[in-house]
Amino acid sequence: MKNVMERRAVIAGIGTFALLALTGIKGVFATMIEKIDMTEQEWKSKLAPEEFRVLRKEGTEPAFTSPLNEEKRKGIFQCAACALPLFTSAQKFDSGTGWPSFFDVMDGQIETKTDFKMILPRTEYHCARCGGHQGHVFKDGPAPTGLRYCNNGVALRFVPEEV
Ligand SMILES: [Zn+2]
Repeated sequence: MKNVMERRAVIAGIGTFALLALTGIKGVFATMIEKIDMTEQEWKSKLAPEEFRVLRKEGTEPAFTSPLNEEKRKGIFQCAACALPLFTSAQKFDSGTGWPSFFDVMDGQIETKTDFKMILPRTEYHCARCGGHQGHVFKDGPAPTGLRYCNNGVALRFVPEEV
């Protein structure tokens, strides 16, 4: 079942990419992703405690704790909860913040909302399939997007490219 869903998501991702390349419109086909709807108890049994705290409770891991900060191999960063591909290694950069950082995201794979937990509103983003919290996006990133997706490493799984 899981494999079928992953395959479907990959196909949706490729299809989205191809269509977006043609239309140039970002995120229009994000709704093609089939949502995962699980209860809090189900997530609790599936995830490690720190994963649950970050992904389901919008927690933030301490800076400089994720091994993915130093990850420089080619590959894909997936949602740790449902394995939806979110970022490619080509979208990663060293922000020096202590969290894995990306200047762009795979088209249609995340959704955003405004978060008022801090005094200033921030843009929260989460996995488009399972709703798992990933991080916040800021407008002080490098070219070409100028964006910085500040991601919790514990919310990601890195899958190195096969050689
Ligand atoms: Zn997910």
